Order: sequence, then C-alpha cells, then structure tokens
Amino acid sequence: MLYSIRMRSAQGGAHEHGGHHISGAERLITKQDLPQITENLIKRALNHEKGRADFIRLTIEEVKSKDIITIPMLKMETYTAMDVNDGHKNAREFLANAGISKIAIENAMIYLLSLQENMRGAILIDATTGKRLDDTGMRGIRVSRMDFKDTLQAKKHFDELGYTDNHVQEALVLASKVLSAPNVIGELCWSDDPNYIIGYVSANNAYHRITKMKPLHSNQGGRVFFVKTPVDINSLQNYLERQPVIVDINL
Ligand code: AMP
Repeated sequence: MLYSIRMRSAQGGAHEHGGHHISGAERLITKQDLPQITENLIKRALNHEKGRADFIRLTIEEVKSKDIITIPMLKMETYTAMDVNDGHKNAREFLANAGISKIAIENAMIYLLSLQENMRGAILIDATTGKRLDDTGMRGIRVSRMDFKDTLQAKKHFDELGYTDNHVQEALVLASKVLSAPNVIGELCWSDDPNYIIGYVSANNAYHRITKMKPLHSNQGGRVFFVKTPVDINSLQNYLERQPVIVDINL
C-alpha cells in the first residue's frame, strides 16, 4: 500500500479565497517515508523563491496497490535554445510533429503568455480546434497521485546525468503520466519559478527539454495539455487527477 500526499500553498489566503499560488507537489510514497516527505513539502512552501506561503494544505490518503498502474518514463532529449524565441519556435515544431494544429499551438502560447496570475493546474486544449475544453477557470486541472517506482534509483540516475535539482524529475513524472492519458497527445510547459527558465514539450513519446522558454525573473508559467477529440472530459480529468500511476525508469 502507498500514500498519496498532496501539498498546495498560497500567499494572501487559500487559493479559493483569492490567494496567490506559491507551490504545490504530489507524491505517492510508503508509510515509512511520510514523516520526512511531509516535512520537506512544508519547508518547500515556507521557503519558496516566490514568497512565503501563509496557507498550506496537505492531504494524505491511502492508495491500494491493486488500483495503481505502472507506466514507462518518457525518454528525455535536450534542445539548447539560443533565446526564448528560438525555444518557442522549436516547441511549436515538436507540437506540430505530433499532429497538433497551428491554431491549437498558437492558442496555447497565447493562453500561457497572457496569464496574469499563476494557475495551480493545467489548461486542456482541443488539439484540432484550439478551443479550451475544461471548465476549471484559473484553478486548472491538477495532475496528481504519481511518483517514480523507485525514487532513490531515479535520483541516482538523474544525479549521474547532472540534473540534481528536482524540477526535471518531478516534471518527467508528471509529463509521463499526462502523455499516458487516453487522448492526450502533447504538453507544453514552462515553470513559474522566476529563476527557472527551462521548459519542455512532451509529444511522440519524448520529453523535449528546452533550455530557454521564458525570460529570467519572469514569474509567468503554466501548462497546456493538447487533447484529441471527441473525448469524455470527465473521465480524462478523473484519470489525470485521481488515477494512481507509478513511473518505472527501467521500462
Ligand atoms: P512549476 O513547474 O511547478 O513551476 O509549474 C508551472 C505551472 O504548471 C504551474 O503554475 C501550474 O499552472 C502548472 N502545474 C504545476 N503542477 C501541476 C500539476 N501537478 N498538474 C497540472 N498543472 C500543474
């Protein structure tokens, strides 16, 4: 049995009462790891570069082994961008190569670039028409209940590759789950952390890490998932938010 632990934190009160999103995290861990990870997540909310959270919500729930599915990790490739324009140009190409329409790609870029406030989840966009499919407003769809099968093995693997901070590792778990969802054919993301300018596109079974997706010190970031229609949005949302998924780096 594992435990789903989810944290979301905000400044200026709870998200639902207008607070600014500071940080969030989701893990699937053993009972033994609960105290340590809980402490780490609280520290993360209180010491974030975006500011100190004054609202933190932690949710811990048991997850039965029989309900968990195991999926492979996307393979990672890095594109070294000259500047943000070049990063976005290549992001558009990676998405177009997955069959996502020009209008859907442009709408996604416009959505992310015009966000006045950070969402805590992602926007779902129709990969053909470019129309937004979810009705979650500024909350977005928050992907949850996922982790590496073996966190220590994954950490060793990424340390050896030189990716010692947890951005890439957490994003790869999320992106692997998102692309495993029925009807999702791509994702576009860059972080809202002001000092983290690397973003990614995942599509065609690959995680394209793109080294410049926003200007340094910008706190504007977000995620868009591209969805093939027709689709049952409720069951897609249920998969993304509730289906427990373990990512095995050896598959
Ligand atoms: P981050 O990479 O954590 O800075 O996140 C960048 C943006 O992605 C956030 O502002 C959210 O809009 C979105 N996001 C972060 N975590 C999730 C998640 N678990 N599910 C869906 N969207 C997320």
